[in-house]
Amino acid sequence: MAIQVNKQLMDKGQVEAMIEWLASFGRADNGGVTRLLYSPSWQEAQHALKKVMEDMHLISYFDCVGNLFGRLQGTDANEKTILTGSHIDTVVEGGKYDGAFGIIASLLAVNRLFNKYGYPKKSIEVVSLSEEEGSRFPLTFWGSRNITGAYNLERVKNVQDADGTSFLEAMNFAGFDPEKYTPPVRHDIERFVEIHIEQGMVLEKNCNQIGVVTHIVGQRRYTIRIKGESNHAGTTPMQYRKDAVSTAAYLISFLTEKTKEWDPHLVATVGKLSVSPNVPNVIAGEVEFSLDIRHHMEEIIDQYCNEIFAEFKQIAENLNIEVSIAQWMDVKPVRMDVKMGDLARRIAKEKNMHYQEMISGAGHDAQVFGNSYPTCLLFVPSQNGISHSPYEFTNRDDLETGIELLTEVLYKLAY
Ligand SMILES: [Zn+2]
Repeated sequence: MAIQVNKQLMDKGQVEAMIEWLASFGRADNGGVTRLLYSPSWQEAQHALKKVMEDMHLISYFDCVGNLFGRLQGTDANEKTILTGSHIDTVVEGGKYDGAFGIIASLLAVNRLFNKYGYPKKSIEVVSLSEEEGSRFPLTFWGSRNITGAYNLERVKNVQDADGTSFLEAMNFAGFDPEKYTPPVRHDIERFVEIHIEQGMVLEKNCNQIGVVTHIVGQRRYTIRIKGESNHAGTTPMQYRKDAVSTAAYLISFLTEKTKEWDPHLVATVGKLSVSPNVPNVIAGEVEFSLDIRHHMEEIIDQYCNEIFAEFKQIAENLNIEVSIAQWMDVKPVRMDVKMGDLARRIAKEKNMHYQEMISGAGHDAQVFGNSYPTCLLFVPSQNGISHSPYEFTNRDDLETGIELLTEVLYKLAY
């Protein structure tokens, strides 16, 4: 049963109460939150937020893919719009702060600004983005990529979820008729500001309250396939084997060591491994493993990949074994706007907040907007660095510090 949010609560700026309220849409038995794109809990949350926006005297509306906007109209019609917010969708049994905090912080910030200063010069819009996580359908950033024009309906025509429901059916079910789709691209956005939980432990370890993100890392993903020869584990002498598992083990330990030497910000992960035939007394003929590589500078990723893949080829030749490398994801690093970062740092300093610059190792809507408009991404700490879990937690003081900073940033940008 959803918690009621009332005007008094909003005016008092009870951030924790609002976080609980939003988490009540899609609350799982274990305390986690499941709000998958276009699902009933997603719809309830978006419509409840719309009502809150109306209560805050914002002009509220959906675009044709379910992004929800609450607009505080600016007094100067010639000025563009300052957009702020985050995503409403979650992973399965995720935490109640991921995405949600950004929306609530933006609402509270705008409400406080309006109560104190009235209408801004530039319009401010709070956005509750329809989808970021990629947890229902195999695509991410559906909300923000429609706003920037990177995606349109073509992209999802053949997309289905794990239950076989097509994207277009799901969209229609949620009240967004694909027949009525017109690209909801916005050309009136001047800047985007997102506040989000860190989802890591850097701020906590450094006893800082605020992270001002300078870059969001680029990500590449590969599937590495090793084709050796299946054979008898007892009768095949070691020197005659084409063992895909021992080759994979060698490649993985090689790339892991190389990563550590290369650059302190570089991370490479082999998280998935499949072995064939995967039987104890048979030399494996085939292994496939995933490789996820992240850094905030494209050239570092390039150099690293060139080096390790050259070595992979050399090893393959030496062992007379086939190694193939297939790339299936390439997301470029995105730099956040330097001036907006300076502004956030200046305000944090004036207000005696403990802050630091940081690089985001996770993807965020800010990286999509950052390719189209000057964008600023701010972090608040995550307790023990836990996220995408019911144990996700940020304490009230840290949430409030984040909102205070966001409020001031929006004030400087829009008033
Ligand atoms: Zn998020």
